[in-house]
Amino acid sequence: MTSLSDLPIRDDLRGLSPYGAPQENVPIQLNVNENTHAIPEAVATDIVRALAIAVMGVNRYPDREFTDLRESLAAYLGHGLTPDNIWAANGSNEILQQTLQVFGGPGRSVLGFPPTYSMHSIIANATGTRWVTAERDSGYAISPETVVAAIEREQPDIVFLCSPNNPTGTALALETIVAAYDATPGILLIDEAYAEFADGDTALTLLEGRPRLIISRTMSKAFAFAGARLGYLAADPAITDALRLVRLPYHLSALTQAASVAALAHAPEMLAMVDDIKAQRDLIIATLPSLGYSPLPSQSNFVLFGGVADPHATFEALFEQGILIRDVGIPHHLRVSAGTEQETEIFLDALTSLKGHSTQSVADGVGRIQG
Ligand SMILES: *Cc1c(COP(=O)(O)O)cnc(C)c1O
Repeated sequence: MTSLSDLPIRDDLRGLSPYGAPQENVPIQLNVNENTHAIPEAVATDIVRALAIAVMGVNRYPDREFTDLRESLAAYLGHGLTPDNIWAANGSNEILQQTLQVFGGPGRSVLGFPPTYSMHSIIANATGTRWVTAERDSGYAISPETVVAAIEREQPDIVFLCSPNNPTGTALALETIVAAYDATPGILLIDEAYAEFADGDTALTLLEGRPRLIISRTMSKAFAFAGARLGYLAADPAITDALRLVRLPYHLSALTQAASVAALAHAPEMLAMVDDIKAQRDLIIATLPSLGYSPLPSQSNFVLFGGVADPHATFEALFEQGILIRDVGIPHHLRVSAGTEQETEIFLDALTSLKGHSTQSVADGVGRIQG
């Protein structure tokens, strides 16, 4: 049998690891920041109706320009955006990939600020774009001075900023984004996957007059639509024109388009649990210190917490109780998604029961470290 290393793959892919967040069928899954609430049944019924109509036409290719969907997304975002400002793809991961296919690639670089979303560097590698990094300030913040110094030092073709940032939950001040934009002659992409959970302003307010700024969004998190795979961006119409150079024709299936348009018509219902999720997040943050952990402030639907003696052991001890959280590879830290009230209670109860037990003694299991 042939193994991966025997194949004539690209030299720059040798030795790399694929994305691999565990998908385990346990009762409490709080490891990939999904909205754990099921979508309302009335909305589901409407989506199925839209799918039934779309299915009747799948003998034809779908609308290559996904016009209805871009109209729905523009209306959802507001801020005076029109369909010309909108682009969509199969998850925001594909948005990031298409962006790097157009503006990155061999001989070009993208700057990121770890710890950040693990897919940023993986997509950089996959597109042959050099991934360069710079340090954050204390508390995982990034000041305008820090971002400008990094851009001047690295001279990247593209800058990726994630706000609120995964896995830390940190949101960036708009001053940092403006400073980054002014400092780079290249593309600035703000990954706003968790924007609906944040209290502060979105970078959408900065788009006007900034043709090199891209705001990436997704229906995977707050919108409770991760399984449908729909990510999108808002930018100057010239950016969407550029993306047409690399997108595969008909990349968004007629079913994806129909389901997404139907879901967006019910945006308030789809987002109805956001406040509840934020309340669970705040409850986790308020409770963890009494258990000896140090949670970071979060503007998203997850909490990164420090003070974990042995993250691997704690991960395994929770896993044995049917609770899946995330070891993001930051020493003495773990990340947990804020789910339903019941999931939060079960997670916090399990952590409480571990207190006093030595989680150090838990035997090593399979490696589950992923950013
Ligand atoms: C989850 C996440 C995404 C979402 O990816 P999709 O492909 O849209 O599901 C994008 N960016 C960040 C920072 C994320 O955490």
